[in-house]
Amino acid sequence: MIDTYTYIAKMEEEIRMSEVFDVTIIGGGTTGMYAAFYSGMRDLKTKVIEYQPDFGGKVSFFYPEKKIYDVGGFPGVTGEALVKEVEDQANLVDPVMAKGEKIKSIEKTENGTFRLENDSGGEHLSKAVIIASGMGTFDMQPLQVEGSETYEKKQIHYTIQNRKQYEGKKIMVISQSRVGIDWSLALENIADEVHLINRVEEFKAVYEHDMDQLKASSVSIHLNQEVEKLNGDGQIMKSVTMKDGAELEVDHILVYEGLNIEKSMYAEWGLETEKGRIPVGTDMCSNIEGIFVAGDAAIYPSKTMLIATGFTEAMAAVNSAAMYLDPKAKSQVYSTVIYKYADQ
Ligand SMILES: Cc1cc2nc3c(=O)[nH]c(=O)nc-3n(C[C@H](O)[C@H](O)[C@H](O)COP(=O)(O)OP(=O)(O)OC[C@H]3O[C@@H](n4cnc5c(N)ncnc54)[C@H](O)[C@@H]3O)c2cc1C
Repeated sequence: MIDTYTYIAKMEEEIRMSEVFDVTIIGGGTTGMYAAFYSGMRDLKTKVIEYQPDFGGKVSFFYPEKKIYDVGGFPGVTGEALVKEVEDQANLVDPVMAKGEKIKSIEKTENGTFRLENDSGGEHLSKAVIIASGMGTFDMQPLQVEGSETYEKKQIHYTIQNRKQYEGKKIMVISQSRVGIDWSLALENIADEVHLINRVEEFKAVYEHDMDQLKASSVSIHLNQEVEKLNGDGQIMKSVTMKDGAELEVDHILVYEGLNIEKSMYAEWGLETEKGRIPVGTDMCSNIEGIFVAGDAAIYPSKTMLIATGFTEAMAAVNSAAMYLDPKAKSQVYSTVIYKYADQ
């Protein structure tokens, strides 16, 4: 038995999913979100589908706390802040932005509409598709301690987003890698305490200067140590018990124990591939008419895999999609200086 609200929400979701969009973008990284803005700006009915629970792709996943210096107009911006700007820009044109869905297959139906199927069997229909899904999807290795899922998102995290939440708090970082050292150093000045836990004797993939910085910091380093038990009431975690029996008070735990990577299935979708990516020309067209590519997913001679590159390619992909959908469409929008979103 489901209640009325759940039933209505389910029906709305089914209607949303069976609507035919002009452009559907697979991947909500910086490229996909910017493509959504550009596509909406060109008055195309647009949808973005992202696997992760949050948008931002690699920037959100790998380096939200780091400053990026090579995006035009931003003389140093954190990954998190850049992602917010790109997402806000996309939302100016109200695209449908779906999260937590992985596209498993793309099929071109007899009438030329693309049918995209997600990992739970749901479908999306679109006249054109832009692939902005990078090299595939990533999942962090979860913390292997009983009950950890209870505190995930609230107190157990797998990226360092939203640094404000760590201010004045007791933080534990669990990692064998340089990522754990980076996170610990990034937080030592804002947190009350930072404990870095490594279950083996040495850190992987570190330079000497990383270790020097770590040793000179106020971070407490615990080698050959592991968390054995999370102590809390199921709502709030208060402390953890370590392998040696010690109990440490903690407010937040950050975990980086490696990644599970699932490569994109571009070849299975009928797309030509080169080094796991999709070869394109300057029009960002793939070998399948109606499927366009942008960002890290695309490959061509002298390609740079950078955020700004993805933005430019997103524009070209959207312009090609616009002309595919309507051969009379303009090949580009020359100026947005007096554009309709100017007052927003
Ligand atoms: C450590 C590091 C530092 C970097 N530093 C810089 C820098 O300083 N400056 C710079 O310009 N670039 C930098 N880069 C490169 C930059 O991050 C990438 O070029 C950029 O993020 C690519 O964006 P994208 O949107 O094309 O792909 P991604 O960011 O990879 O986004 C692709 C999205 O698609 C989603 N996805 C994949 N498959 C599916 C599917 N089947 N269904 C639904 N969703 C799917 C993924 O979950 C992901 O969110 C750095 C990269 C790394 C790893």
